[in-house]
Amino acid sequence: MAVSTNYRGRFAPSPTGPLHFGSLVAAMGSYLQAKSQNGEWLLRIDDIDPPREQKGATDNILRTLEGFGFEWDRSVLYQSNQLTRYQEALQYLLEQKLAYPCSCSRKSILEKTGQTKGETVYPGFCRNGPLENLSEYSIRIRCNNEFIQFDDAILGPQSFDLEKMNGDFILQRRDGYFSYHLASGIDDAEQGITEVVRGADLLNCSPSQIYVQQTLNLTSPQYCHLPIVLNETGQKLSKQSHAKPIEIKESVDLLYKSLKFLGQMPSIELMNTNNEEIWNWAINHWQPERVSKK
Ligand code: GLU
Repeated sequence: MAVSTNYRGRFAPSPTGPLHFGSLVAAMGSYLQAKSQNGEWLLRIDDIDPPREQKGATDNILRTLEGFGFEWDRSVLYQSNQLTRYQEALQYLLEQKLAYPCSCSRKSILEKTGQTKGETVYPGFCRNGPLENLSEYSIRIRCNNEFIQFDDAILGPQSFDLEKMNGDFILQRRDGYFSYHLASGIDDAEQGITEVVRGADLLNCSPSQIYVQQTLNLTSPQYCHLPIVLNETGQKLSKQSHAKPIEIKESVDLLYKSLKFLGQMPSIELMNTNNEEIWNWAINHWQPERVSKK
């Protein structure tokens, strides 16, 4: 397809398991935003957390996307090939005193702050030097009353107080792996992504990634967060909760359902066609304003 606008979107799965219906919705939403504007759609594999990865998952994801009729532009970017870039960025932030080594474990943070569960807010105990002597430290970014605002294409104006929400968050774990915020913040900006379209389960990640971009003097994309797919018990579909993998043999049915989930109104006859017909219809009739905010 001819590329005639500067729009560039992306889909960035982690190879921690097969794609499920929630992944399909995110892939479809980002694909339709891009293709309906004659833009590019890139595929990135977020393989920076080997302990959580599943053998064969990357191949499975690529084959599944192909089988569902997705066509990505350019070559696939593997975050595992970007480690030198992440290290360089980290070095820069350390030199600028925008990042610092930290010796606190999750357990000690919970104990000291009295927080119980969920996302922990880190109040910067090690800002003036690590409290304990360790052979390895995690690296955290320094948030100084940072207020991050952006206008989400579906959810509207958003504003977050980073210090209250996360505190100084992790850029590199103590085991040496880089964090999702550092890697995605850098790659989204440096791949020239103009709009990140993904599930609203990641809404709270956007301010941290924007902050990473700001500290590295990178341009931030726009954001668009799609409604989250829940299972019968009201839980978010996820690889961790063993959501049912999507099967290529059910692609027409699932593409159709995914369109409906995104508030679109495909005619029932489309169910008797094929992937190509569904995509043609979807790209030509995509109405992002019909996507639910919930
Ligand atoms: N790779 C992460 C995931 O699969 C993040 C994706 C994103 O930023 O869109 O959940």
